[in-house]
Amino acid sequence: MNSTGFVWHEKYMWHETGNALGVLPVSGDFQPWVHFENAETKRRLKNLMDAYGFTQKLKSIDPSPATVEQICSVHTSEYVAQIKALSADKGGNAGESAPFGPGSYEIALLAAGGVISAGDAILEGEVKNAYALVRPCGHHAEADRGRGFCIFSNVAIAAKELLKRDDINRIAVVDWDVHHGNGTESAFYDDPTVLTISLHEDSLYPYNTGMIQDTGEGEGDGFNINVPLPPGSGGGAYRSTFESIVIPALDLFKPDMILVANGLDASTWDPLGHMMLLSHHYRSMTQLLVEAAEAHCDGRLLIVHEGGYSAGYVPFCGIAIMEALSGEDSGVVDPFAKHESIWQDLQDNQSAAIQAAAQIGLFKLANQLDKKV
Ligand SMILES: [Zn+2]
Repeated sequence: MNSTGFVWHEKYMWHETGNALGVLPVSGDFQPWVHFENAETKRRLKNLMDAYGFTQKLKSIDPSPATVEQICSVHTSEYVAQIKALSADKGGNAGESAPFGPGSYEIALLAAGGVISAGDAILEGEVKNAYALVRPCGHHAEADRGRGFCIFSNVAIAAKELLKRDDINRIAVVDWDVHHGNGTESAFYDDPTVLTISLHEDSLYPYNTGMIQDTGEGEGDGFNINVPLPPGSGGGAYRSTFESIVIPALDLFKPDMILVANGLDASTWDPLGHMMLLSHHYRSMTQLLVEAAEAHCDGRLLIVHEGGYSAGYVPFCGIAIMEALSGEDSGVVDPFAKHESIWQDLQDNQSAAIQAAAQIGLFKLANQLDKKV
């Protein structure tokens, strides 16, 4: 068994986010413009997979909707009821910058449930690892409010559920979305059974979270690592972060499963981030996690789609990740990858930021686990 699972549902593309210039409905003050978070980025990834015959090289996993009980492992029942009521009417805003139209409640349940379905397929041995191309995204959503285009915290909800399964006692979440994974962090801030690691652009969004000093609290202190990277970081900075922090942390923690909050908005062509990753950098990071998963947890690796707003470039990053996951070749050649410069190599200010994060985050994890880095 060496197959890679793939979660997709057409309804994910029917989640409506409206106009980028205001919450639903369109105000009339400015020429309408499609919201940054729209179906096109993800749909173009699926279309590219289909066009190159890559989709059938993966094992399709049908998503089941998450139950309200599963959602409430992370969110308050009041918040869930509020989203359900708004969705049954005209839609609305789940909190801060999280607009949605009618019917998005059921779609959001299917997104969180799709991640759980993928996790179960891995644990039941149907697939070795999986990619969940779900929408809406999840990693900013907090217990009682949606934030940053996210309604339900897909990765956190799935992690809570998978921890109930036999043999899964500790999970590591690696979040390389260009924005801080505040929602996932908050779901496990006092929980030593889930190691959360977020690589993100320093002080991008949310504005005052994701600091290196935020290492967790109570029993969870030491089990949250933030790596805020300077704007302009490229493949060199991300590789250095993996070598200096991510892989050593996984080696210390020894997870039973690795989940990835996969934001493709750290790409060099993303309109909402200021990083410089190319598709082959995402491929390399995935390969390192495939190897870490092999070393620690029989290859159990679940990659969950989060942000990524360059409709032209997201597809190339996404398919590169899936190639590394599956070992299958799509035949796609990234037409943008030739645009690499020395600025994508590790710079001194980036190296200093990574070492600062390592000295706090990695050392604290090691101390908590009573080992030496
Ligand atoms: Zn993002």
